[in-house]
Amino acid sequence: MDAKAELRAAREQLVRYGGRLVADGLAVGAAGNLSVRVGDLIAITPSGIGYDELTTADICVVTLAGDEVEAAETPSSELPMHLAVYAATGAGAVVHTHSAEVVALSATCAELPAVHYAITSLGGPVRVANYVRFGSAGLADAAVAALVGRQAAILQNHGAICCGPTLPAAYDRAVLLEWLARVYRLARSHGEPRILSQAELDEVAAEARRRRYGLRRGQ
Ligand SMILES: [Zn+2]
Repeated sequence: MDAKAELRAAREQLVRYGGRLVADGLAVGAAGNLSVRVGDLIAITPSGIGYDELTTADICVVTLAGDEVEAAETPSSELPMHLAVYAATGAGAVVHTHSAEVVALSATCAELPAVHYAITSLGGPVRVANYVRFGSAGLADAAVAALVGRQAAILQNHGAICCGPTLPAAYDRAVLLEWLARVYRLARSHGEPRILSQAELDEVAAEARRRRYGLRRGQ
């Protein structure tokens, strides 16, 4: 696929997953934002447009430095955070949500502990970055720091940020993170949850590698 076709595919994917963001309850209205890296460019959802009316023409294309290449609309206010994650990691896509379970947890906990072994898909217990105003360089720094060694981070009184090699992979992590936060809340309603040890998590990660989880045959 040439760069132009790749960008077109990214625009379509962003519109499709933007719709899912609302349908899956990971954000309401125009909140939350998504981006995909295509070579040295980033395609990102625009600011302030509801996902129910978002079209491919509304998707903004910027450089890794944030300069607008094609932008009929204003890029997401969290563009600095997306750019910081691309600069600090090898991510191919970034998903930022305002999902309810994660936001509720962020207001009360310093991290999401390993209540279920699936958390190994996120790199382990998920840190909660201290509150910083939306759209700020400080929030971008806090998110990057919380993402070290992880594929997901929680932003205090705000939401979450997940990354991955592709948009479907990053999005699946956002769904998993919300599910884990819900499981943790349910577990706490029964009493003090048992939390998996690092040795148990390491064992799960090793077995997942051995079984080549997430890969199709031939890959
Ligand atoms: Zn946000």
